[in-house]
Amino acid sequence: MQEFLDVVVGGVKLVNVKARYGWSDKSFSSLLQVVHDMLPEENTLPKSYYQAKKILCPMGMEYQKIHVCPNDCILYRHEFEEISKCPRCGVSRYKVKDDEECSIDENSKKGPPAKVLWYLPIVPRFKHLFASGDDAKDLTWHAIGRNHLDDCPQWRKIDRLFPDFGKEARNLRLGLASDGMNPYDNLSTQHSSWPVLLVIYNFPP
Ligand SMILES: [Zn+2]
Repeated sequence: MQEFLDVVVGGVKLVNVKARYGWSDKSFSSLLQVVHDMLPEENTLPKSYYQAKKILCPMGMEYQKIHVCPNDCILYRHEFEEISKCPRCGVSRYKVKDDEECSIDENSKKGPPAKVLWYLPIVPRFKHLFASGDDAKDLTWHAIGRNHLDDCPQWRKIDRLFPDFGKEARNLRLGLASDGMNPYDNLSTQHSSWPVLLVIYNFPP
């Protein structure tokens, strides 16, 4: 287990360096291959970017990248999947240089997306919680153990409004939090991220 964790931590550090300096997937794979060959034979360093991603996103729990209107009007999915301009505010889906503004061809204009939402699908993750015996048991911790959260008015209100939901101790209680941050500190002031975090309140601390 420790060895696996070391590989994951090392992998995250390497992938961060890749992201920071904009290395291509191919150059990153070449570097991994070289370092892998330099290490003792039984080392578990991934030999390619693809393998590294597999370790960091195990069991197919990948993320989806969804293009967003820069003004947050729409997500480019479902009926908007193929269009290249926001139907509400008219702003391009793709990054446009100032001098290109007047020559946008609706059908051919492609380039880097102006804004991207990284979505980590929650349903597969929830399924995993119930697939592991220990996790499934921990989900009922608030009902059998001590939990100051179920004293809070919001928790009791849910129990009162939705008694069927409240009775089933394994139903998931989620808290949602969001805040903006610049993941690269001041290296790139142009970039900011707004993580939206879902916290499962069923679990012990
Ligand atoms: Zn818009």
